[in-house]
Amino acid sequence: MSRTYWVETYGCQMNVSDSELMEGVLTADGYRSVSTPDEADVILVNTCAIRDHAERRVLGRVAELNRVKKNRPGVLIGVCGCMAQRLGERLMEQADYVDMVIGPDAYRSLPQIIDEASRDGGVVDIELNPAENYEGLEMRRASRVSAWIPIQRGCNYRCTYCIVPYTRGDEKNREPGAILAEIQKLADEGITEFTLLGQTVNSYRFDGWNFARLLRAVARVPGVRRLRYTSPHPNDVTRELVEVMAEEEAVCAHLHLPVQSGSNRVLKRMARRYTRKEYTQRVELLRELIPHIALTTDIIVGFPGEKEEDFRETLDLVNEVEYDSAFTFKYSPRDGTPSTRMDPETFVAPEVAQRRLEELIKAVREIAARKNLAEVGSTREVLLEKRARRGNLLQGKTETNKAVLIPGPDEWLGRYMKIALTGTTGATFTGYPIER
Ligand code: SAM
Ligand code: SF4
Repeated sequence: MSRTYWVETYGCQMNVSDSELMEGVLTADGYRSVSTPDEADVILVNTCAIRDHAERRVLGRVAELNRVKKNRPGVLIGVCGCMAQRLGERLMEQADYVDMVIGPDAYRSLPQIIDEASRDGGVVDIELNPAENYEGLEMRRASRVSAWIPIQRGCNYRCTYCIVPYTRGDEKNREPGAILAEIQKLADEGITEFTLLGQTVNSYRFDGWNFARLLRAVARVPGVRRLRYTSPHPNDVTRELVEVMAEEEAVCAHLHLPVQSGSNRVLKRMARRYTRKEYTQRVELLRELIPHIALTTDIIVGFPGEKEEDFRETLDLVNEVEYDSAFTFKYSPRDGTPSTRMDPETFVAPEVAQRRLEELIKAVREIAARKNLAEVGSTREVLLEKRARRGNLLQGKTETNKAVLIPGPDEWLGRYMKIALTGTTGATFTGYPIER
């Protein structure tokens, strides 16, 4: 009987993609996936370290998974990803039921790590390896409709709040030939939507290639019908890149462009390396060349030193740009990041940060709802991606990355359909197909 595994994923798209990689490595080694953790011999939890809240949730979940081990001794529990990298051995000291602590650069050796843990007990492998390029590893992809393609790992920016450069190491870019070959193969298998992934994906460089050149080349791979990328850094949004986005039909009219704050003072303390004006100039360029583009963003409130007037500037920016949606976060101090060493007197009181967060969420939602309401009554091309979790509906996305729910059979999954938008909850649309 082959051994079984269960992989659970928290955090960003890079983690979703990394989990597909781990599943691929295990499948290639003869492991079989199961549909609940209770049936698994090996349980892997792929974690996020970006905020304290996310880490605590995951620790709670790992403790809960210990019940599987109690029922079936011999089951192995592994913690992978950024939290594993950040905490290393400390994780095992805190939770002695954890058998493996596995950083992102060790996934290739998963079968050996598992063997070692079952033979000798606890294994910690968190070495960052600049030479690990992940080439030659086949992913076990969850979707036959759209694919995540990591083109870059790590990050060379050092935003003062962020743990990523410490958990993922310096930027590493994949060879363009390998990226194009992988996408061609998946397109040949029928996948039509691709999302290029990297922490600052548009800073991609390899020999004579920059990101604009790579994006154009991918857009021209036969079978690629929708192409996205995330997350870009505003500094690397060049005119050349926006021109490629505008010219290449496959590149979708949506960009997730993290801004973090609308205040120059705060942006500087965050070491984001752009001013508000430089950011909005990029927004203007995107809208000039791609008028129907949807823009989304990430915003942090309560960063050390953020005064009420700084927060007002963030609200003002949100109203100026009119984002289609935004991920909003309360600043969470991460050990070892430069922001934790700022003058404690500048730290924002938790209740103030909470109030700002609520005010920001309200502003973001109002704008999103207003924009989405204006789209009700129109027809959009929707790629039907999966069955929705509730209501026996299919879920798809517009070119601008907006979720649409429609009634329909499973045979429609993977199809592009013209959908009349009939309503919106503010964030998601309902609709019906106007042609079959
Ligand atoms: N590399 C991407 C970028 O630069 O936009 C994403 C980094 S992170 C996975 C996603 C978001 O988490 C960031 O854009 C930021 O808004 C938020 N974030 C990162 N560190 C944080 C912290 N210490 N506290 C609160 N939010 C944080
Ligand atoms: Fe973190 Fe900044 Fe790098 Fe994004 S660009 S991963 S926020 S350090």
